[in-house]
Amino acid sequence: MEIFLSAHLRMGMRGVWYLSARRRYPRLFQGVPIGFQLGIDLGGSKLAIAIADADGKLIAHQTRPSPISGDPEADVQTIAADAADLIARSDLAARDFDAAGFSVPGPIDHERGAILAPPNLPGWEDVPLRDRMSELLGLPVRLENDANAAALAEWRFGVGRGAHNLVYLTMSTGVGTGLILDGRLYRGHRGRASEFGHSCVEWEGERCGCGQRGCLEAYLGGAAWTRRLREITPATSRVCALAGERELVLPEHVVAAAGEGDAFACQEMERFNHYLARAIAALTFALAPEVVVLGTIATAAGDTLCLEPVRALVAAQVWPTLGDEMRILPSGLGDKLPYYAGVCAASEGFPS
Ligand SMILES: [Zn+2]
Repeated sequence: MEIFLSAHLRMGMRGVWYLSARRRYPRLFQGVPIGFQLGIDLGGSKLAIAIADADGKLIAHQTRPSPISGDPEADVQTIAADAADLIARSDLAARDFDAAGFSVPGPIDHERGAILAPPNLPGWEDVPLRDRMSELLGLPVRLENDANAAALAEWRFGVGRGAHNLVYLTMSTGVGTGLILDGRLYRGHRGRASEFGHSCVEWEGERCGCGQRGCLEAYLGGAAWTRRLREITPATSRVCALAGERELVLPEHVVAAAGEGDAFACQEMERFNHYLARAIAALTFALAPEVVVLGTIATAAGDTLCLEPVRALVAAQVWPTLGDEMRILPSGLGDKLPYYAGVCAASEGFPS
């Protein structure tokens, strides 16, 4: 487990913490709640927990492998125990917090605060996470879809600061999208917006994990791309050499091999950039964002392999009135993104 406590907390002794906190959090010293936020990002592979002060500054955080065991009640108790432990080690108590927020994979039933059946949380079906965690932590709990929470995080704390209209697009296992429109998170009817990863980019195209054909996710999602690469990567390609064998090929091997000029890898990057640009162009005509923030694969591929070609393709596809002032940028929060996503879920997640 990776743990961070900010300097004044690391001093350890309660008296020292209070001396230090007196300057930094005078209201806490006077026994007045100051509105800390507890942020939790629960993914299929990692559980990230953070504590932020009222300004959103991270004062403690930790990451560990996701505790998903197939028994949601046991998992929820483990997560609550981890959160309580971080709170205690930070010399805080539940009463010092405004709320806890969960950034979680959808679909979510926002009215009931329940997680329905995310593919990467096996065994979690219709889990009443909001109410159960609220009981265990003694705090109000807010839930937010992970892509929405990431969009909020990049908007509040990352490269999207100051924008009124922002699109967040992430290509990890699937394709997640989050929309900040006219200065607020857009959720749509019953909170069901932002599933742009399943809009059709090829009629009768590749089969998607959702059951439909031709979804953007079937072309840009890490799982779909990995499947394709393991079928078609030539044995002579540098991609295979980097992976060791074709059955182990991942998108990151394509990125690395394209950086070395491998012809197959460059072709695959070109295909990826093409579909990504198509998605951004469609979103641009609908929403006129000022900033498009790209996460994961696009951020890892960087300027030369992805961002510059995508900017050029989009510029050729959209009207100058829409494209000239629009910035297409890599994620600015890097490995801190899950912490800020959790914290944003606490401050702005549903039902705020
Ligand atoms: Zn789909």
